[in-house]
Order: sequence, then structure tokens, then C-alpha cells
Amino acid sequence: MSENVYTQEAVANRFRDFLAANGLRQTKERFAILRAAYDIEGTFTIEDLQQILLLQRFHVSTSTLYNTTLLLVQANLLIRHPFSSSTTHFERITDNKPKSYQICNICHRITHIKSKDLAAAVDSYHPRRFGVSHRILYVYGTCPKCESAMRKKLKQIKNSKHQ
Ligand SMILES: [Zn+2]
Repeated sequence: MSENVYTQEAVANRFRDFLAANGLRQTKERFAILRAAYDIEGTFTIEDLQQILLLQRFHVSTSTLYNTTLLLVQANLLIRHPFSSSTTHFERITDNKPKSYQICNICHRITHIKSKDLAAAVDSYHPRRFGVSHRILYVYGTCPKCESAMRKKLKQIKNSKHQ
């Protein structure tokens, strides 16, 4: 896909083709979920998606939400992030630019890494016989807040032992 083909119409067409190719029904629920998912900037959970649909007075069951987001991931229209929390996070795909994230293993805080060098490196990988839909790099570790909280705790423990 080239960069400017993520219009609302193009996204709906892509989903329509995916459903047709897989012999799946083109229900209005599925397209309402797609529209709602593409209205959200940044990452979201199934609960966030359900809230938005409820505000639009669109009632869909949780299982329909789970099934449809799975289909949108398979159709290369949604990213399912492997963040280290118990809640699954999704994100719409709006362009072909590579994305990089920093994830804290303790508080699960996610931050975008804004590095042109890193983006260029991720973008330069062109595998053979594998159609790339999008490129994402994850860097796991400890955020400064958790790092300083840990150091503070350690200091307290050491101090209490000396008393
Ligand atoms: Zn943290």
C-alpha cells in the first residue's frame, strides 16, 4: 500500500475485500467497529472501543468486538500491540511509516520513540517473499519513574538494616 491510501473509503474497501476473500459476511456491525476504531488516535482497548460505540448508540456484543478486531488485524488495518499488560491494546494503521515504542516492564507505560535514525533502520529491511504491511519496533525496559522508585526503595531497605 502506498502512503496515501488510508482514507476512510480505502480502509472500508480493503476490509470489504478481506471479508469477501474469506467468505465472511459484510455486516453493518463490522463496519461500525472499523469506523470507530479509525476514529481513535493512538492506542485503545476493547473497552474503549465499546464506549465509543455506545456513545454512537451502537450496541455490539463483546464477542463481536473481539472477533471483528481480530479480523481487522488479519486485514492489516489494525495493530495488536504485544504490550506487557493484561489488557490488549490496538491501534489503527494510518500510514506506512515505521513506528517505535518504548515499554516499561513495571508500570507498562508506553512512549513513542521519535528517532529518525531508528525509523530509517526499521524501514530499510526488505524481506524476500514476505509482504510487509507495517513496521514496528518495541524496546522494553524500565522507565525513569520506576527506576527512581526502585532506587528509593532499595535505599530505605539498606538504611533500615543499618539501624
Ligand atoms: Zn515504569
